This record gives sequence, structure tokens and C-alpha cells, in this order.
Amino acid sequence: MRSLFIVNPATGETITAVPAGSASDIDRTVQKAQRAFEGEWGHSAPRERTAALQTLAAAVRDNAEELAQLECANVGKPIGSARGEIGYAARVLDYYAGLASVARGETVGLSGGLGLTLREPLGVCGLIVPWNFPLVITLWKLAPALAMGNTVVIKPAEWTPLTVLRLAELAKGILPEGVVNVVTGTGAEAGAALVAHPGVCKISFTGSTMTGRAIMASAAQTVKRVSLELGGKSASLVFADADLEKAAGSVMSVFDNTGQDCCARSRYLVEKSIFKDFVERFVENTKKLIVGDPLAANTDLGPLVAAAHRERVHGFVERSGVKPLMGGKKLDGPGCFYPPTVFTGVAPDAELAQQEVFGPVVTILPFESEAEAIALANNTLYGLSGSLWTQDAARAMRVARAVRTGALSVNSSSSVHLELPFGGYGQSGLGRELGPQALDAYSEVKSIYWAQ
Ligand code: NAD
Repeated sequence: MRSLFIVNPATGETITAVPAGSASDIDRTVQKAQRAFEGEWGHSAPRERTAALQTLAAAVRDNAEELAQLECANVGKPIGSARGEIGYAARVLDYYAGLASVARGETVGLSGGLGLTLREPLGVCGLIVPWNFPLVITLWKLAPALAMGNTVVIKPAEWTPLTVLRLAELAKGILPEGVVNVVTGTGAEAGAALVAHPGVCKISFTGSTMTGRAIMASAAQTVKRVSLELGGKSASLVFADADLEKAAGSVMSVFDNTGQDCCARSRYLVEKSIFKDFVERFVENTKKLIVGDPLAANTDLGPLVAAAHRERVHGFVERSGVKPLMGGKKLDGPGCFYPPTVFTGVAPDAELAQQEVFGPVVTILPFESEAEAIALANNTLYGLSGSLWTQDAARAMRVARAVRTGALSVNSSSSVHLELPFGGYGQSGLGRELGPQALDAYSEVKSIYWAQ
């Protein structure tokens, strides 16, 4: 069997190798998941699923340090962030453990009889995951899928399968055989086979918009349910009346996870009267960030995930033809390190202001009026996240309603909340994850008419 070599992006060393799964591996695994769905799990009571999810959450907590070290080594995340993500992953399981028992149907009085609605699981769900938050994004999908009684086949990203493989080991003994399955492999082979498989009822995908389009087209052949969480080019709008220190201090809203975050505020739109002052403060704050060893406690930015990805990020910088205020050069030495890079003077329609770079690169653009700020924010094919900084509550409400994006933070750079639905407008995606709404994405509603 062919292998995928798994590399530590901070050192360039190979950690291990995993199988490159084929279409027949996918077929075998989907059949296993179908049998598990037809067995006790597919007929389990909500409270049994609550108990299983709680036990899995406890197992994640019991193995948290090992999982954090794995995520740190495989993705290059600073160890503090990796520990935070593992704790959060366990909370996702706990949250859907609670909701498993809450999801229920309705009774409706009808002429000549009674209507009932039942919430039923879909069957085998294919979960396709990217490399930037491997365990967390897996659990955004896995926890609601299990809460509703589905079985799953997970296809982790080719660079970062290690925590997901460990999670599947932890699930053994907690969940019946065949409920949680992982097939490692490339997107072109294992991923595409999962999407095309007639035994898979739903694909939940997180990744690039380009891959999302291909998945949607392929899933159409079998009319699969699809949820797509895709790319972003989110804006942070800073008005002249904002708390400037806080707004210019929000540098991690773009540089967190070394910019490899679909919610990264990679476009700052700043009112002209404060533009110069804002840029100076933003650059000053960015210069304080420490790029380096992910295992060091004070590191803010680890490496990019892979050498090929660093080339892609640097390509955007080079093609821009604009000299950045800081950064913009690959860092010497082993590993895929890249410095925080700040641009001004980029045209709003230029590639750098339009395309998702998915690295530590920000463009800061000026605006003169509220209407222009909204127009610039909406001048994108994406619509995933965003921030808005102002002390004027009426303006905050007006602008929040006018910006076409799935999530927006006022005077904050936070992006995702477990209790709130998360997903994109425009080409940032289809459907919502998280919140109680995620349960809808993993269930069918059956209507029954009972004549009296
Ligand atoms: P990607 O689209 O290259 O790959 C994502 C996953 O899809 C991987 O597991 C890959 O193997 C698989 N894949 C690739 N081609 C496939 C195909 N033809 N059929 C089936 N599966 C296939 O994305 P990436 O580079 O791993 O991740 C970065 C992208 O993910 C960015 O665009 C980012 O914005 C996006 N992302 C979005 C969210 C969100 O919630 N909206 C969250 C994180 C990342």
C-alpha cells in the first residue's frame, strides 16, 4: 500500500507515515459503517448517545496532553493554542451530548387525524476535514453526527491525520465497532471516492472553495446532502470613533494560527482620518509577535503547515508588486516559518485584497464613509466572518446588518462560538455548523399522518 509521509513543519523531520487509502478502502469502510448503522447504534436511544459522547469527551480530556503534543508536532501550532483546542474539542462533545436528548419531533393536529414528525438519522456521513484545525473541525462534524445516531467515515487532510487517528482509537470500546471510521489518503483519491460513494448519505466538508465546488458537483450525482464550510476574506472595519488601542491591538485576528484560519481578518478597512495612526500602532503591535518554536511557551506564531503551502503564501506576496511595511520574506533555517506581513497601498480589487492567502498576511485599506466601508467589506465573493470597531451603537447595528457575512464580532476579534451557528454567505459555504442548528444537518424529518 502507498503511504503519506507526515512531516513536522517546524523541523522538516518526518514523524511517521500513514496509508494512502484507495477507492476500495473507502468502499470497504463505507460498508462497515453501513452495517454499524443498521445495528444497535442506528437504533440507539438519545440518552445512550448522550452517555457515549460524554465518555468520549472524558477520554479526550484524559489524553489531552498527548493530543496537544501531536497537534503541535503535526500542524506546528504553538503548544498553548494546541492545548486550548483540545479542551475546546472535549467541550464540543459535551455540548452535543446534552443536545442529543433535546432533538425531538412534534405533534400537529390535522383535519381527520394527527400529524407527527420524527427526527431520524441520515445513515453514513462522510466527514472531510482540512489541516488547519484538524481535531476541532472533526469534532464540529462528528459530535452532532453521532448525537443524531449516524455513523461516519472521516477523511482527514493528507498533511495532518494524527490527532484524528488517535481520536478513533479512543472511540474504540466507547462506541460500537464501525460507528467511527477513518480513512487517510489524498483528496483526489480517498476524498473523491467518499463523495461519489452511493452508500454515503451526506458529505460535510471543510476546506477551500475550489474543492467545495467540485464536491458539490460530484455529490449531485447521488443527491447527497452537503454542508460546505469554505474559504474567507473577512474584513475588520475600524471607524474613527473606535477604541483605537483595542482595534489596533487585535493583530491576532489575522495572525492567529499563522493566518491559516478561514475567519482571519485579512482585510482591515480603516477610516481615513485615523488611518496613519492606526497603521503605526498595528505595525508596532505586530512587531511584538514572536515567531518560532511551537513548543516554546511564549511563541505567538508557529510555522506554516508545509513547505508547499509556504511557497503558495509567498507567491501572493511576490505577485502583489507592492513592498510590505514589514515581513514578506521567507525566514531562513529549517521549518516553514513565515513572518507576519503587513501591506498598505494595495488596490481593493488586487489579488492580495481579494483572494484567500491563508497565511500571516494582512492588507490595510482606507475608507472615507460608512457606505464606502460597507461596499468594500462586501466587495468579495466570500462572506464568512468579520469584525467591526465603533463606540456608536446605532452605527454598529446598521453596519452589522449591512455586511453580508455569516458571523460578525462587534468590538472583538472572536469568531466562532460553540453555541451559535457558524457558516458562510456567498462562496464561503452552504449550511451551518455548531449551535443546535448543526443537528438539522445530520437528520431527516419524517412526517406521519395518522387518521382517526
Ligand atoms: P482543501 O480543499 O485542499 O482540502 C480539504 C480537505 O478536502 C482535505 O481533507 C483534502 O484531502 C480533501 N479534498 C481535496 N480534494 C478533494 C476532492 N476532490 N474530493 C474530496 N475531498 C477532497 O483545503 P485545505 O487546503 O486543506 O484547507 C484550507 C481551506 O479550508 C481554506 O480555504 C480555508 O478557508 C478552508 N477552511 C474553512 C473553514 C470554515 O469553517 N469555513 C474552516 C477551516 C478551513
